[in-house]
Amino acid sequence: MSEHRYAARVRSVEMSGIRKLFDAGGPDAINLGIGQPDFDTPDHIKEAAIAAIRAGKTGYTPNAGIPELREAICAKFERENDLTFRPEQILVTAGGSEALHLVMEALVDPGDRVLITDPGFVSYAALATFAGGRPEGVPLDETLHIDVEQAKEQMDGARLFVLNTPANPTGAVESEESIRALVEYGNDRGVTIVSDEVYEHFVYEKAHVSAAHFGDDVITVNAASKTYAMTGWRVGYIAAPEDYIPECLKVHQYAQACATSISQYAALAAYTGDQEPVKQMREEYRVRRDLLYEGLSSLGFEFPRPEGAFYAFVPMGRNLIQKAIEDGVIIVPGEAFGSKAPDYARFSYATSRENLSRAVGRLQALVE
Ligand code: PMP
Repeated sequence: MSEHRYAARVRSVEMSGIRKLFDAGGPDAINLGIGQPDFDTPDHIKEAAIAAIRAGKTGYTPNAGIPELREAICAKFERENDLTFRPEQILVTAGGSEALHLVMEALVDPGDRVLITDPGFVSYAALATFAGGRPEGVPLDETLHIDVEQAKEQMDGARLFVLNTPANPTGAVESEESIRALVEYGNDRGVTIVSDEVYEHFVYEKAHVSAAHFGDDVITVNAASKTYAMTGWRVGYIAAPEDYIPECLKVHQYAQACATSISQYAALAAYTGDQEPVKQMREEYRVRRDLLYEGLSSLGFEFPRPEGAFYAFVPMGRNLIQKAIEDGVIIVPGEAFGSKAPDYARFSYATSRENLSRAVGRLQALVE
C-alpha cells in the first residue's frame, strides 16, 4: 500500500494537548481539565430548538445566518456592549472556533505574522498556521496580563493581533486602558485586532470592555457557547466592519454553507430571551472561583486571583502537575497553551463545588 501524504502545514500542528488528557486518570479522576460549562442549556432555548424542528425549519439557512438572529446579535451589542452594528456586519458561524478560522483564512497571507499571547488559547496558533501565517507569542507580565509595551514592540509589520479578554487559560481580564492602548497602537500600524470575547459574561469584579470601542479595524468574535451553556449547539459569530463580511463569507459558504438551522433558532431564543440564567451561572462561577482560589492559596500556591472566564492558572512545577494528573486531578499543563508557562497548570472551575473541594484535598495530600 502506498504511504499517505499530508500537507506540511497541517502536519506541523499538534493535536490539542487538552483533548489528549481526557483519557488520562482512572474512573475516580476529578476532571478540572475541561473548558466548557457544566450547566445544562436553559429550557427556553431547548424549547425554541424543538419548536424549530417541529415547524420544519430544517433546511439550509441564508449563508450569513437567519436575519432574525443577525438582528438579535445587533440588539445584544447595543444592550450589553454599547456598540452599534448593522445585520450586514454580522456573520453567524458554527461556534467561535469557526469564526476564528474564517478570520484567519480571509485575512492571513502566507508568512504573515499573527500575534497571540503566550500562554493563550490553543486554537489561535493552529488556525494561523493552517492559514499559512506565522503565529508569534506575546508574553504576559507576572500578573498574567498582556505586557502592553512588549506587545507594541512586536506590532510593527504584524497582520493580526488576537486579543482575548477574559482570557483562556489565565482567567485574566484586561483593563480598558490596556485594550485601548493595544487597539489604537495596532490600528495605527495596520494591524487588525481580532477580539475574542467568548467569556465576556464571566467577569467577577472588573467590567468587560469590547475592543471595538477603540478602533475601526477590529473584528469581534463571540459565541453562544459559554454564555448560554451551549457548546454543543455550535453557534458563534463575527461582527466586523462591513467589507470584511463578504470575504469571510466566501470561506464560510464553501466550507460550512451555514450554521446549523435548528441551533440558530435556539441561539435566537438565547439572545432575545430571559438573561437571568446567565447571571445565575456567573454567580455560581464566582463562588467556585473563590473556593478554588482560597483552597489552592491555603496550600501555599501563589497566583493572581482569577478575574474572569472559569479558569485559574497556577504555577506549581512540572513534577507536581504530573503527580496531580496521575493522582486523578485532571488539570492542563501550561505547555498546551504555548512555550512560556511550562510550570503552570490550568484548572477549570466549570465543575461542581464538591469536585473542587475534593481536588484541593487530593493536592493537599501531595504537597504535605
Ligand atoms: N475562544 C476561546 C478563548 C475559547 O476558550 C473557546 C472554547 N474553548 C473558543 C473561542 C471557541 O468556542 P466555541 O465552542 O464557540 O467554538
